[in-house]
Amino acid sequence: MMIDRNRLAELFDRERATFTAAHPKSQAAYENATHLFGRVPMTWMNKKAGGFPIYLDRAKGNRVWDIDGHEYIDFALGDTGSMAGHSNPDVVAAIKKRVDEQGGLTTMLPTEDAEWVGAELSRRFGMDKWSFSLTATDANRWAIRLVRALTGRSKILFHSYCYHGSVDESLIVVGPDGHGMSRPGNVGEPVDVTMTSRVAEFNDLEMLERELANGDVAAVLIEPALTNIGIVLPDPGYHEGVRALTRKYGTLLIIDETHTFSAGPGGMTQRDNLEPDIVIIGKSIAGGIPTGAYGLSADFAEKALARTDLDLVDMGGVGGTLAGNPLSVAAMRATLENVLTEEAFEKMIATATVFNDGVQALFDKYDLPWSINQLGARAEYRFAKPYPKNGTEANAAADGELEDFLHLYLANRGILLTPFHNMALMCPTTTVEDVQKHHEVFEEAIKELLGQ
Ligand code: PMP
Repeated sequence: MMIDRNRLAELFDRERATFTAAHPKSQAAYENATHLFGRVPMTWMNKKAGGFPIYLDRAKGNRVWDIDGHEYIDFALGDTGSMAGHSNPDVVAAIKKRVDEQGGLTTMLPTEDAEWVGAELSRRFGMDKWSFSLTATDANRWAIRLVRALTGRSKILFHSYCYHGSVDESLIVVGPDGHGMSRPGNVGEPVDVTMTSRVAEFNDLEMLERELANGDVAAVLIEPALTNIGIVLPDPGYHEGVRALTRKYGTLLIIDETHTFSAGPGGMTQRDNLEPDIVIIGKSIAGGIPTGAYGLSADFAEKALARTDLDLVDMGGVGGTLAGNPLSVAAMRATLENVLTEEAFEKMIATATVFNDGVQALFDKYDLPWSINQLGARAEYRFAKPYPKNGTEANAAADGELEDFLHLYLANRGILLTPFHNMALMCPTTTVEDVQKHHEVFEEAIKELLGQ
């Protein structure tokens, strides 16, 4: 079934008008924000199907309310930062205790909670030694420095169309000639990215081997499923192949679980018995409070600490003043101990399965050439069928107009998806009724698109 582009444009204009009429306070706030770069607190907040962003009033569980008084079922959940649900009571209690009763938000002194969190992350992800940051980006950056230092090699290999935060080395894609080039739009790259990085397509072990055979790759840094260009799942045997090739060429393996944590309490690393040398995580593990972490194997940690030429204590390039602060650590403990537990994942994954299967059923019912993939508690559809197998294919399947229309149609009817994706994430309080509500509205959108 083809989409009539004229109908799409007309429907989009209608939804824009509805959105504008319903959000006068958000519109005014945006127009008044003349002291902000791009009118928003962070430039990416200009990713807005409605012409201006919805301004937050408050949020609780999987519900968000805007300053114009509308309530939304939130499937964006701060795109994973709030996978525990907004302001979960257990997390809030731990934050309040640290803020009100104990005091001490940033002190340059460790708290005992940190060892509890390290032990719990070890139990879940299997890495022996943990260190904290404030963002997953920084955890990636510091891991990259460590692997370079320990291997004496200069390059890091990424998947094409990966995302690991604003990490300089990662802004590389496979170009038309099959070799690495700077990702389109790369802002002020410090050096040509091919000097620091190599790239291979996801699910392509031949290309990976071709690149690793150069012998200059310190580490392969990957998401075990791509989650920032749809959800691209690994083919059977792909990860075994990646691990075998990295070992063959003396390259370390860093797995970034920041989003793929949705697969289960120990992410895909635990679920699929992956064997990384380093695990990266961030966003969700402190229930919405900024944090990130990297976990090292005991052997790697020992070797790094034995290197007296590396300044790991002062200004050697690894660390941040507020990293591991008492508030982040208390929030991580509460989130891991009480909220994102084994039982919570079971429920979240079951709810996501209802989301996934219902959306696929609608694509089948209306004979749409679209498809959806699920990764534990998250699911994301793409305007392609079958689902793309690598980042370049997934990028080619993007359709900005269609995406904006669907986002706006849903938002106008009280449902939020992640602005950058057709992605829905479940938190512990997301219900099957919430998912069914989404499906009802989504079906109406499809019918209107198809003129039925
Ligand atoms: N790693 C992955 C896999 C991510 O998806 C992201 C952000 N989307 C990051 C790292 C960076 O996270 P942050 O922006 O919180 O540093």
